[in-house]
Amino acid sequence: MNPLTIAIDGPAGAGKSTIAKTVANKLNLLYLDTGAMYRTCGLLCQRAGLSSGDVEQIIALVDTANIDVRFEHGDQHVYLDEEDVSEAIRKPEISVWASDVSAIPEVRLKMVAMQRAIAARQPLVMDGRDIGTYVLPDAELKIFLTARPEVRARRRFAELEAKAPGSTCYDDVLRDINYRDQQDSGRLFAPLKQAADAVLLDSSDLSIAETVEQVLALAKGLQV
Ligand code: C5P
Repeated sequence: MNPLTIAIDGPAGAGKSTIAKTVANKLNLLYLDTGAMYRTCGLLCQRAGLSSGDVEQIIALVDTANIDVRFEHGDQHVYLDEEDVSEAIRKPEISVWASDVSAIPEVRLKMVAMQRAIAARQPLVMDGRDIGTYVLPDAELKIFLTARPEVRARRRFAELEAKAPGSTCYDDVLRDINYRDQQDSGRLFAPLKQAADAVLLDSSDLSIAETVEQVLALAKGLQV
């Protein structure tokens, strides 16, 4: 079977990273989580004490930042000035920061250049918000993975609870998800949007295994 490049986009908490990672493993492809890159930009700005309205400073900071994506034993790690920040970027406040900085075109252009350079080296599964529409418009398979907002908030809440019990509450998670979805869909440059040639997959009532099966079936259909 010829390796495919697969783009998976969708709103927060739809299960993109779990599905993309599993599909990539099964098809022996690299998996690139592009959200981690915007989260790293968000962490950088938070640590610098900026606020989301400091657009000029954010642009300058991200422009000179040393952000790197490395694959170690098949797992993606993101580095900020040689520090592995893969865990630090998972905090809920960094999700909101990521959404804020990712609305700035200059920030996106730097990340997109890195994403395209990685994709140019090998076929892969890439997930994000604008992969099928902007980053890899020629991807062989495009999936727009979604789920009802309450389902997505419940999943994200369970994920955060498993990592740090009692650190957040369901209502805060739902509010953050709604805030990010609105901002990600409403921004002018490369917004969250289903590509015209993407397959819509609603995972609200599907298990992870069932969702993976559907993506694999679509991939297989393209390879015969
Ligand atoms: O995927 P994840 O939830 O980790 O992404 C964090 C934020 O990064 C998103 O809410 C979105 O604002 C931004 N993002 C983006 N484009 C991508 C991936 C993520 O704008 N390709």
